[in-house]
Amino acid sequence: MARYTGAVCRLCRREGTKLFLKGTKCTSDRCPIEKRNFPPGQHGKDRKAKIVGYGLQLHEKQKAKRMYFTLEGQFREYYEKANRATGVTGELLIQQLERRLDNVAYRLGFAISRRQARQVVRHGHVSVNGRKVNIPSYQVSVGDEIAIRDHAKKLVIVEQGVQIAQQNPVPTWLEMNFETLTGRVLHLPKRADVNLPINEQLIVELYSK
Ligand code: SF4
Repeated sequence: MARYTGAVCRLCRREGTKLFLKGTKCTSDRCPIEKRNFPPGQHGKDRKAKIVGYGLQLHEKQKAKRMYFTLEGQFREYYEKANRATGVTGELLIQQLERRLDNVAYRLGFAISRRQARQVVRHGHVSVNGRKVNIPSYQVSVGDEIAIRDHAKKLVIVEQGVQIAQQNPVPTWLEMNFETLTGRVLHLPKRADVNLPINEQLIVELYSK
């Protein structure tokens, strides 16, 4: 599947906010948003127009899409599915994004960023209910057991991720055993469980035009 391979810090600068795509660099003073919080490009600094209406909705969608490292087609599919289901569309959209296996691997501390977690999954280092799953978009379900496979437990990126995750609480919809590097889905994530600055209502308004 296609994926964005350019410089990810440009994505944050484009959105004017931290998307946390680079692990520890994102919380350090090396983060480009701290020093150059204006759009990339030759004229980035000169763009001062206030974003309103459609631009704001588009901006919000791009932000969410980039945070979860998904492409347009897949993001739109999440919206369509959420729109068909019973419930609040925006919340169901966020729920599907959170249930992605690469996001869950990141939340459990198997990597220091979603981008890196995607790689960990893609390379076959993660199992779900004892079976290898290497599809980053795989949707986890209640009761699923997500683990780092034995051969990957000593990988540097996994050790770094675990070290950071041990200092931060795992989201309440998940539980994690740092001894065995195994996590479990306790319940499906509700909007309040997801602490990301996304206004999902603007995304719904954009797609429902
Ligand atoms: Fe974004 Fe992280 Fe790069 Fe900062 S360091 S610009 S938060 S990806």
